[in-house]
Amino acid sequence: MKNVLRFGLGSAILVGSTFLAMPETAEGFTTIGGSLNLGQRDFRHFNDFTGAANNNTVIHPNWPQYTGAELAMWKGGAEWNSRSHGDGSGDSSQSLVGSGDADFSFFWEGDASGIGGSNDNIISSLGGSSGGVLAYTETPISTGWRIRFYRDSWSWQDGPGTVSSGIDIQGVACHELGHALGLGHTGVSGSTMTAYISGSGQPQRSIQSDDIAGVQSIYGALSSSMPSISSITGSMVPGGTITITGTGFSTSTNRIWLQSDVVNGANSGGDHATIPDVPSTNGGTQISVALPASGWEGGALHVKRSTGSGGELLSESHPFDGGGVGGGNDTINFSISDTTPNAGQTITFSADSAPANQPYTVVWANSDNSPFFATFNGTVRTGTTDGVGALSFSRTVPNAGAGRTFYMEVQVAGEDSNTVQLNVN
Ligand SMILES: [Zn+2]
Repeated sequence: MKNVLRFGLGSAILVGSTFLAMPETAEGFTTIGGSLNLGQRDFRHFNDFTGAANNNTVIHPNWPQYTGAELAMWKGGAEWNSRSHGDGSGDSSQSLVGSGDADFSFFWEGDASGIGGSNDNIISSLGGSSGGVLAYTETPISTGWRIRFYRDSWSWQDGPGTVSSGIDIQGVACHELGHALGLGHTGVSGSTMTAYISGSGQPQRSIQSDDIAGVQSIYGALSSSMPSISSITGSMVPGGTITITGTGFSTSTNRIWLQSDVVNGANSGGDHATIPDVPSTNGGTQISVALPASGWEGGALHVKRSTGSGGELLSESHPFDGGGVGGGNDTINFSISDTTPNAGQTITFSADSAPANQPYTVVWANSDNSPFFATFNGTVRTGTTDGVGALSFSRTVPNAGAGRTFYMEVQVAGEDSNTVQLNVN
């Protein structure tokens, strides 16, 4: 049985009696017990927000390949990271993103295709009345967590600039991910981890000294030996060679963590794509490595030094505008009307947020060969997206599909969608 930590709006009208049980003292940070090991640093977002929660369509160069609610979630997590994400820019409300100064960084894995289980490290939303609650985190955390936002009760805003009305996704994400990493609430006003917010919650985007003391108490203060990335250059395409410049790399056994292109709603979708046993040169300051031909996509990259489990082994996140199979951007929203159809049933395939008036291909594989996709082995349909970058068509599930699982995605003009798992009865 999972417990939940709720985050409410600090209005006397909206705060229900259930909140009176929340521990809050004038003391500083609290912890909920447990910590995230290096295998639990991933976090993903199942983006089922609509409207103003996804109206930012401008990609920031320090945060490649993500916009809308996903970008807000990503930045909300990256604020806890050991060091600044890239040059730290991309949020006009704070001087830099990435302020944790602890042996801890989240690993942004991008999209998920569902809400996942309570240990799958996925942020999603849910409908219904919240009784004054904005969002909650399911704990304990050590084997994973799940965060839910109340979608229908609030006017969620993705920013990225000032949020003057509604509730700020990034600020609330930063708070909830503070629970995910092991913090409880604090009595120090102005901190991200206060139990209530007033206004939009935008100030919660920026962690404060009490929050930093909290994350350091769990994971230790930032070690000077932690690898750090200052730049990534080269050919950022499948098979290309990149040069990673930084400090603290292992002589012979670095691991490069890339975002996997497996986008499912289970824990296995959180596994990073890894390039193992990569040496460094120039006194541990430079890595030259070939990118795999498939299985990864762009967004962020980390370097993990050698083996082991200490948080000081994993670098902070660094922007990585690379492209995996099919473009690797996951910027297209793909859905199927019924993901557990019967053979012979007609189902509808829909996508939006794709490039307009461009040829599309819907591809499928009957195995995800986890953690990497095998070469896609079929095409469902080709066509052309409409003037707003959407497509929709129906197909009858063939009888030969009975009892099989398929993985499907849409590819348009070098971009690809989330992957949808189809389980045919
Ligand atoms: Zn909370």
